[in-house]
Amino acid sequence: MAFELPPLPYDKSALEPYVSSKTLDFHHGKHHNTYVVNLNNLTKDTALASLSLEDVIKAVAGDAGKVGVFNNAAQVWNHTFYWHCMKAGGGGAPSGDVASAIDSAFGSYDKFAEEFKNACVTQFGSGWGWLVAENGGLKIVKTPNADTPLANGQTALLTCDVWEHAYYLDYQNRRPDYVQAFLDNLVNWDFVAENLASA
Ligand code: MN
Repeated sequence: MAFELPPLPYDKSALEPYVSSKTLDFHHGKHHNTYVVNLNNLTKDTALASLSLEDVIKAVAGDAGKVGVFNNAAQVWNHTFYWHCMKAGGGGAPSGDVASAIDSAFGSYDKFAEEFKNACVTQFGSGWGWLVAENGGLKIVKTPNADTPLANGQTALLTCDVWEHAYYLDYQNRRPDYVQAFLDNLVNWDFVAENLASA
């Protein structure tokens, strides 16, 4: 079965004014979809086509002859994960188990937010900022281009897409403003809690 573009988990205007429907129209309908189309073309009639998306990523990670497959598969997965990291009325400090885990790892939500924003802003060029679980603890990492915690032995808990296509229509060059709006108004902590519970 071919890989498919999952629908957005909310209406295209749901994240306004922080992420516009125009951005989601291009980002989901064009960018994310193109990764799906490319992945299907690259895996057509190969053994990879019958694997789950996660297994494709793990199978080709680090394989110099399969960089195109890795890049497109990881970008399909990263984007689907990213859509779920946001919701209308999200953001601000979490509560419950996520709050405890963040306090334990970073000292406070404010310290976490500062470090997460710094990772997102300092990722040179295209990439992603992440909160991940690794060896029982939480940490913040940034990955270039399509690279993903899934390929690095880490469990993704939260991500912010910092490719320019994620924010340029709404924020132009102001990546720090986009990341701040993501933290203050968009983070879906319920999704983070689900990921933490299964980490
Ligand atoms: Mn993107």
